[in-house]
Amino acid sequence: MRILALNCGSSSIKGALVETGTRARLLDLEVENLGLRTCRMRVGTSERPLASNASLAQGLEAVLSEVRRHEEETGRPVAVVHRVVHGGATFKTTTLLDDEVLGELERLSRLAPLHNPPALEAIRAARARYSDVPHYAAFDTAFHATLPRRAREYALPAELRAAFSIRRFGFHGINHAHVLNRVAAYMQAAPEALRVISCHLGNGASVTAIEYGRSVETSMGMTPLEGLVMGTRAGDLDPGILFELLRSEAFTVEKLEELLNKGAGLKGLTGTNDMREIERRAGQGDEECRLALALYSHRVRKYIGAYAAIMGGVDVIAFTGGVGENSALVRHRCLQRLDFLGAALDEDRNRDASLDAAADCIDVSAEHARVRLLVVRADEELAMALDVAKLMTAKASAREEARIPIAVSARHAHLSRPTLDKLFGAGHELHPRTWLSQTGQFAATETVTLIGPRGRLEGVRLMGPPREHDQVEISRSDEFTLGVDAPVRLSGDLANTPGITLEGPAGRTTIKSGLICARRHIHMGPEDAQRLGVSDCDTVSVAIDSEGRDLVFQDVTVRVAPSFRLELHLDTDEANAAGVGPGDYARLVPGSHARS
Ligand code: ADP
Repeated sequence: MRILALNCGSSSIKGALVETGTRARLLDLEVENLGLRTCRMRVGTSERPLASNASLAQGLEAVLSEVRRHEEETGRPVAVVHRVVHGGATFKTTTLLDDEVLGELERLSRLAPLHNPPALEAIRAARARYSDVPHYAAFDTAFHATLPRRAREYALPAELRAAFSIRRFGFHGINHAHVLNRVAAYMQAAPEALRVISCHLGNGASVTAIEYGRSVETSMGMTPLEGLVMGTRAGDLDPGILFELLRSEAFTVEKLEELLNKGAGLKGLTGTNDMREIERRAGQGDEECRLALALYSHRVRKYIGAYAAIMGGVDVIAFTGGVGENSALVRHRCLQRLDFLGAALDEDRNRDASLDAAADCIDVSAEHARVRLLVVRADEELAMALDVAKLMTAKASAREEARIPIAVSARHAHLSRPTLDKLFGAGHELHPRTWLSQTGQFAATETVTLIGPRGRLEGVRLMGPPREHDQVEISRSDEFTLGVDAPVRLSGDLANTPGITLEGPAGRTTIKSGLICARRHIHMGPEDAQRLGVSDCDTVSVAIDSEGRDLVFQDVTVRVAPSFRLELHLDTDEANAAGVGPGDYARLVPGSHARS
């Protein structure tokens, strides 16, 4: 499945067109430094400058145009998935985007004013461009929906927590989940069999304890400010410091927010958030950079120790993100003194570890280590695309399961013995022409003519075997031809129905009642009823997907009997309106059904 994954931040956009079957990136795009003079765009391996100070909207336009430009060689995406940082308490899985979900996401922007708005802008732009494919949102918070209460709550009064939606949400969940899956594949173990500490060290950074497949603790909290030392964020701080700063003339809430989001962490300590430069300067004796490295690694090590304690042990420690993947020095420093856990690094493997598309998971642990130390390539775009492919496949197979074969009934008549005698001669036996799918019934070779006040319909097929009561089933169009008014009824429900004149080879007769327009219905056996979650006489809706004439039929009655085969019975008018015929399928509309 070809899925376009978009990952929008305030200053960058990453995009990938992923073929989920092979996991190949058919197209790889990145826009960096939005809003700056240095704004540039990378398509695959080639880079070019983008308009100076390009806005997010311009960046998105450039990305979507590139995707479109390459469609001839890559093919068109069948779905688009957007990374959304904050899903609040509402969104616990990757979710199909519709106007209602978008509205909810807009309300959630209050919780993540710096992170969600760019994603929402991307969603709007991409939906306008690709309005005919489904769009999904993948949430960084979703993986942490499993946090136990003891890890989720802050020690504040319950009313306050409720009034301000104060709780830990955790972030980077898309990649932490990806790391878990990648690690499990490497270990040839089920995710549910492992205790993993995933260290996502990028510009933003967080550690997650994943106990037997579930996130049980993570270092980012209500917002992405808590936890590790990051590129521009301080991570854990004594809240007393904030009061101290706010009391001074120099700080307002806005300034403090700006400092904690953009001017602290590595940048605050050293003037740069680029770990490569910090390592280089530290190597030259720069004290600030040495302190930054020490503080950074110390904090990671502290969390690893804490999380091993929380899980009662650890099987794998994984490093991911720009720093985690590329800095042998940081990994070395973070893992110092962890031998007591069984986490022993092989220094040579660590130094040589170099990830690429082919090697996306590298083992850097010493031979004797009890804990596997792995370097895993972060790949949010792949993780999001795989997630959507899984959802779409599940949906398709659910749809497959709910498929109902369509049978189209042309006008026909079930006649009683006395009526048959009048039309065909006494004792005439009907001759089966084709056997119907409902056992024992057949369409006969014999036909009759219907005669109404306005017109005649010839060649109306008889059904056998004869029934106790006459029943003639016609469509709305037939009613106009004949000049009659037949009520919409289920088979056998003949009280107060009008009659009609019939003509056969042996004579003519007028039946007193029994003329109906068949109410649409589904026949099924008890097993199908159970599988589809319906019972006899329920009313359901069925959807028909046909070229250009998609239609949902409401008021469809379910008929369950052991002898019935699964089949939706429509009349010719209904089938024509939906552009379908025998051999086509309808599907039950989930949640449409009303008990009888
Ligand atoms: P983001 O969180 O924005 O996705 P990344 O995961 O790309 O960020 O990580 C960016 C960080 O990775 C930067 O601090 C950068 O300095 C660091 N980084 C990239 N390559 C190296 C390297 N070879 N050695 C050390 N740090 C690196």
